[in-house]
Amino acid sequence: MAAKVQPNVDSNRQWLRDVVPLATPYTFVMQVSHICNIRCRYCFHSLSPEKKKANPHFHNSLVSMETVECVCEQLGDFPCSFKSCRICGMGEPLCHPQFEQICDMLKATGKIEYLSFFSNGLLLTRERSEKLISSGADRIMISLQGLNAESYRKICGADIDFPNFVGEIKYLYENRGNMGVHIKIADVALAPGEDTKFYDMFGEMCDDMFIGPTVPMFSKEGVQYTDEISAKSSQYGIESDMFEVCPQPFYMTDVTVTGDVIPCCDYFNPVLGNIHEKRLIDIWNGEQRELCKQLLRFEASSLPYCKNCVSKYVGIHWKEEHLDDCAAGVLKRYEVNN
Ligand code: SF4
Repeated sequence: MAAKVQPNVDSNRQWLRDVVPLATPYTFVMQVSHICNIRCRYCFHSLSPEKKKANPHFHNSLVSMETVECVCEQLGDFPCSFKSCRICGMGEPLCHPQFEQICDMLKATGKIEYLSFFSNGLLLTRERSEKLISSGADRIMISLQGLNAESYRKICGADIDFPNFVGEIKYLYENRGNMGVHIKIADVALAPGEDTKFYDMFGEMCDDMFIGPTVPMFSKEGVQYTDEISAKSSQYGIESDMFEVCPQPFYMTDVTVTGDVIPCCDYFNPVLGNIHEKRLIDIWNGEQRELCKQLLRFEASSLPYCKNCVSKYVGIHWKEEHLDDCAAGVLKRYEVNN
């Protein structure tokens, strides 16, 4: 098998306590689609249209090119480049017909070192793959929902031509040029004993691959999870330590399809501003910095969106990101260095 077995996450972490406050976040997350072509049973999209519509953070739309232009123009305000740009969020990026153009525009800012995106891969065709390969995207992370058509029907209510789907992934990989290809599958999408089958089927069609735990990302939005799905580890399989100071707002910023700015991978709660009303760098140095101070003062339980949040445990987190034991010292830097 050519592929390495590893999660899709850079394990070369900085000790956050040594580098914050950051003048430029390490990670920029861009949401381009709140629309998805499937309805996975553990995702927000499994909810009824009425329930989804009732959620004020869900917009059932694609990002406009005006918002993309606005983002690209504002990235230039930051003094350094972003180490990583991830295109992900609440929908399938390939539902956006101008997705490749968006990748090109982000890369053309000169502020993005590495651009990756998550996809369920079901919209891949030869033509789409060729466009992606020649776009600014550096890496695609394909999430599988099973190893046969029946599993796709069961997990996400989709009727797919599974052999054709596998053929499209193979074509993408064989013609990938400089683009990295990662394939992951949720543990609950595998029948007992199917681990080996997953490695055998896709081990020659990607650079790296991983079987990841399914996490209860959308429990507070109303998605019901079975007992086998818990927040005991992050979606990258890293055991969850309980910690108080959520590290995400210290190194990432996320712009949604409407231009709202959120500080973390909890896509449904903390909106700090909107890039059409205030510049992203001013939100980073203003509202987001204030949030960091509140977290360092251990005030998360009084913040409606951080209280009871599971995203802080199931998002990426490493010991290098823990700030609980040095919060007072780091807070001084946030207060002085303003
Ligand atoms: S605790 Fe949750 S809602 Fe609050 S900043 Fe962290 S991930 Fe976001």
